Amino acid sequence: MIYESTRNKELRVSASEAVLEGIAPDSGLYVPRNISGINLDISQMVKMDYRGMAREVLGRLFTDYSEEDIAYCVASAYGNGVDGGKFYTNEIAPVSRLGDSYMLELYHGRTCAFKDVALSILPLLVTTAKKMNNDETETIILTATSGDTGKAALEGFKDVPGTRIGVFFPSEGVSAVQKAQMVTQTGNNTYVYAINGNFDDAQTAVKTVFTNNDVKESLKKEGKAFSSANSINIGRLVPQIVYYFYAYKCLCDNNTVSVGDRVNFVVPTGNFGNILAGWCAREMGLPVGKLICASNSNDVLTEFINTGRYNKKRSLILTQSPSMDILISSNLERLLYYASGCDNAYVQSLMKDLARKGEYTVTDDVKDEISRVFYAGSADETETCDALRKAFYDHGRLIDTHTAVAYKVYRDYREKTGDVTPCVVLSTASPFKFAKSVYTALFGETEADDFEYLELLSEKTGEKIPEPLNGLKERPVLHNTLCEKDEIMSFVNTVAGV
Ligand SMILES: *Cc1c(COP(=O)(O)O)cnc(C)c1O
Repeated sequence: MIYESTRNKELRVSASEAVLEGIAPDSGLYVPRNISGINLDISQMVKMDYRGMAREVLGRLFTDYSEEDIAYCVASAYGNGVDGGKFYTNEIAPVSRLGDSYMLELYHGRTCAFKDVALSILPLLVTTAKKMNNDETETIILTATSGDTGKAALEGFKDVPGTRIGVFFPSEGVSAVQKAQMVTQTGNNTYVYAINGNFDDAQTAVKTVFTNNDVKESLKKEGKAFSSANSINIGRLVPQIVYYFYAYKCLCDNNTVSVGDRVNFVVPTGNFGNILAGWCAREMGLPVGKLICASNSNDVLTEFINTGRYNKKRSLILTQSPSMDILISSNLERLLYYASGCDNAYVQSLMKDLARKGEYTVTDDVKDEISRVFYAGSADETETCDALRKAFYDHGRLIDTHTAVAYKVYRDYREKTGDVTPCVVLSTASPFKFAKSVYTALFGETEADDFEYLELLSEKTGEKIPEPLNGLKERPVLHNTLCEKDEIMSFVNTVAGV
């Protein structure tokens, strides 16, 4: 399997090189050109456990890794606690009921968000790739985060030999729990900075440093190279494909569907990484009906999918679902590539328009190709709270704010279309990660600090605080530097140790 830049098909690399580079030299994203040529046999897939599926999916896409290497990475990331895995429940991604839909619980990893699924295995894929390529450089992982990626990447890469990791988060754009998780991070190779700006500022700054040739050259002289733990890295995206197959298997096991029947998925979306993995699963043979893209008040994607025009010229709204407060959805670029029939020059022209004019409009053909599979809707703050209450009071399910956005859009979809295809809502975070918002929506405001809300929520609902979030308040703060947008380069030097 060859990977090429979305913007230039001459820029081609192997899977392991794509994982190590993170982003293509022309700022395009690496994509496997022939993904639809992979046809996984669903009747076989549904007989596998999570690890078996992961070996199958990763093996087909990361073709230059040996079978043993893939098996080692999968076992180290997804083994249960007993054999050294990184999840605190036996099942990596359990499926449960949510009203008349199903919920894929993706938040049982070390940091209680779905990012753990991919970031538990990415460091293993990186270190293995280095061995395979006889690459002795030190890997400098740079990450911009809207809250959840940062902590998951820090946990994944902490004390991994041959790596250093720097995380930049928007100082006013993350929840108190998210912030506490990051600033208390231990590890000898971890660097965490609050950036005076929003997520898009952080992501743009990091991407700019990343693709700056002078910076890359001077790092190279020091025996170091950048890589990324954001979903621009194909090593993030591919492991996320696995759980779409796993959810499908669960629905087969409980007789909701028979092998071959279609299933819809609703995904709370920000950077478009999670939902794009669903598109990839579909290309690889998973019987997917609709992929339903759910946005919060930052509804650029809803507008794009419904009109064909992407317009980022508006201000970012800070919401209760901060991990989706994004206006520049990076992974949409990969969908544009596939939906345009792998037309790299076309993708490049759209990205130029986005950078210069802050907007682009796709052709009717591309728009129609996207609409064939995607549906889009959004939930504002009030609707998010209503959905949270509905899940809890009508169906006895405690969900987080991001999942609530998806649940609202799911209900709208059913009402508008009458489509009763079985549907899986991807549940992307533990409600305790956003305890204050969740508690307030369910029980009203009260006098408590952000951490007391975790205990209050637990008391009122009878659900246990997940182990990784216990005692967060007492942990010492190890990182407390605020960085201005234009200072990012000097902090990157600190991360890199130059
Ligand atoms: C990152 C994140 C999202 C958005 O996922 P994308 O892959 O960026 O679309 C949604 N919910 C939570 C809780 C997240 O952490």
